[in-house]
Amino acid sequence: MKCPYCSNKDMGKIGRKKYFCSNCFSEIVVSSNKFKVISLNEKGIAKVVKTCSISD
Ligand SMILES: [Zn+2]
Repeated sequence: MKCPYCSNKDMGKIGRKKYFCSNCFSEIVVSSNKFKVISLNEKGIAKVVKTCSISD
């Protein structure tokens, strides 16, 4: 599993369908056939920064 946002290959699994990238500090949530990349902004509010389909 590679980070869909920064391509870092060293991602930590934090839940059944959740991963955390320690390189770009994003949370990646896998839902059906899509990834959602969630980032915290400077106010600590989670924001979806990228959605992409799982193809490879
Ligand atoms: Zn990343």
